[in-house]
Amino acid sequence: MSKVMVTGGAGFIGRYLTAALLARGDSVVVVDDFTTSDAARLAEFRHQPGLTLQEGSVLDQSLVEQVSAECDWTAHLAAAVGVRRILDRPLASLRGNVLGTEHVLAAAQRHHHQRVLLTSTSEVYGRNTGTLYEDADRLLGPTTVSRWSYSAGKTVDEFLAFGYWRELGLPVIVARLFNTVGPGQSSAYGAVLPRFAAQALAGEDLTVYGDGRQTRSFCYVTDVVAALLALTDQPAAVGVPVNVGSEEEVTILDLAHRVLRAAGSASSVRFVDFQAAHPDGFEEVPRRRPETSRVRELTGWRPRYDLDAIIEAVLEHERHRTGQLAQGGVSGHGE
Ligand code: UDP
Repeated sequence: MSKVMVTGGAGFIGRYLTAALLARGDSVVVVDDFTTSDAARLAEFRHQPGLTLQEGSVLDQSLVEQVSAECDWTAHLAAAVGVRRILDRPLASLRGNVLGTEHVLAAAQRHHHQRVLLTSTSEVYGRNTGTLYEDADRLLGPTTVSRWSYSAGKTVDEFLAFGYWRELGLPVIVARLFNTVGPGQSSAYGAVLPRFAAQALAGEDLTVYGDGRQTRSFCYVTDVVAALLALTDQPAAVGVPVNVGSEEEVTILDLAHRVLRAAGSASSVRFVDFQAAHPDGFEEVPRRRPETSRVRELTGWRPRYDLDAIIEAVLEHERHRTGQLAQGGVSGHGE
């Protein structure tokens, strides 16, 4: 049993990771500034003795130092979330990613952490639409497009992590997460599946950007967390990037139709010009599918949920949430 600092532990994925760590008997100190998360997400665990909540940012170096000093290892998930926020606050995203990660790694190094898990992102591949092995090229557009600032920031995170490993011996695990979805993911930051689920159940048209032929591969959040935990237990995973995601690829148009069918919804699809949805010059990525042989070879991991099961679970959560809202319940951040 160990004590783990989980940055971003009140976020969508962080909450599931926190739950899994507590369930296996670890203690968790969540460091979260609640800008895109909600303490209410952790409410169900608040009576568990193993959980401590520290409100604050990873930009607060003394807070990171103080929490690191009492922990055995770190899971660093705190980062800007979603397209919308990156567009609205590119500077905050970049600072949080680059400076925050440096604080986390430096503190872990100083306090001899057994390991640091860094959640990176498929965004590091940029516009590369080919087979995304971990060693695939990163193809980035101009610096005037903020999507690439996020990509560059997370790439710097990876370089920092590998530097701490190679030069200073801090064991780092770098997991590149692809589209991760599941109950509790907010629709407020642009993520497509919670948006489609909410639209379908509210009887609104599903807003498909562009012609809907762009593809993504969606992985269920508990599967992603299982991969993260398996990687942190695997010494051979140290110091190399590892893709974590589903290889089941779907066009966004097909996703919309599958959500409509599963919801039994009478809504239709409404095509929205991508530039109209993103007047600030954001760029669409036409295809993104991970190649996941590395994580399989390292840990034996495979996702358990296929896309239909994922859609079902997200719809079920959305039905429950809107039912609660109708009865006057509350939920944070437009979940
Ligand atoms: N998307 C869409 N309608 C929406 C929200 C998103 O068609 O209401 C598309 C978006 O353009 C992208 C895909 O769904 O092609 C996934 O978007 P998301 O923001 O979930 O993830 P990311 O683009 O970061 O992979």
